[in-house]
Amino acid sequence: MAKVHKAVWSNPAGDYAEGPDSVGPMMDRLARAGFDIVIPVVKGGDGYVNYHSRIERVRPQFESWDPLEVLVWEAKAAGLKVHPWMCVFPEGEGSSLILRDPSLRVVDRRGRPKPWACPASEEVRRYELSLYEEVMEDYDVDGVHMDYIRYDSEDVCFCGRCREGFRVETGVDPLEIGKSSQYNVFRSRSRNRSHPAWARWIEWRAKWVTRFVEELSESARSRGKELSAAVFMDYPECIVYQGQDWGDWGERGLIDYAFPMTYTNSTLMVKRRTRNHIAQVKGGCHVWEGLGKRSSRSTLSTEALIEQARTALEEGAEGIVIFSYGALTDEDLAALAEL
Ligand SMILES: [Zn+2]
Repeated sequence: MAKVHKAVWSNPAGDYAEGPDSVGPMMDRLARAGFDIVIPVVKGGDGYVNYHSRIERVRPQFESWDPLEVLVWEAKAAGLKVHPWMCVFPEGEGSSLILRDPSLRVVDRRGRPKPWACPASEEVRRYELSLYEEVMEDYDVDGVHMDYIRYDSEDVCFCGRCREGFRVETGVDPLEIGKSSQYNVFRSRSRNRSHPAWARWIEWRAKWVTRFVEELSESARSRGKELSAAVFMDYPECIVYQGQDWGDWGERGLIDYAFPMTYTNSTLMVKRRTRNHIAQVKGGCHVWEGLGKRSSRSTLSTEALIEQARTALEEGAEGIVIFSYGALTDEDLAALAEL
């Protein structure tokens, strides 16, 4: 039987809050259960990073030791790969990028800026890329991981840059189209999905997210690093809602792994979704299904977790990715080891 691949998302602030000595035992625990990749969050979008960066502020908890340095060392010793995980476009209050230039934020229909950087800005994409490049240069990582690689909602972006950029190309101010997903509210004013420029607007905004993926992919390739992404389970509808066209990234081989976040208590949904996800990338990248041991929309017993894992594998996924390490019990790990 083919090897069952396993990865896990991990939050250093909780998972090794007790200090550097807690990292090694965690890696051994994962290796014993047959895990291949650990994905520690290094940038969450709150203006702090979980590694010793020269670009962004280091989370105070980690000023006295570098959790990524220790993790890379201990993971290698245990035979695990490391893909540091960044929440790409969220940029909150303390973000040095936004402090430097608040106009780089996305703006909603009503003109209100949000704690999120605009993917259409070249400066934004250069900044996010610089963080990834810092991690790839300074640490012996196997790859890097993208999360929040999208817009925050269907109600952005109407910043000056996006309005003008779209208008120059199409002659239409996107404010005339409005919120991309709303179907009826402005129907009488022929807005939204019935607007003649709606389809171009949807593709125009997704293009900028994809542009960043292309840029990071090229950078990772040139350094011999892998690229993985946490992506929405409801593809392709997420192209409309969040501008995330991950099927395209997978099919073109821009990413090495797609990890759809298939967080649900329904094994039937895991079955149907997995089948869909695999079809979308047409063999261009690996698909490992993300399973929500404990997430905003799922809580799984050991039995349910294993049942979902087996179902995803039966449907053709090459592996599973667990959200998240902090929720895994000894019983879960013992059962995962048997998969
Ligand atoms: Zn914008």
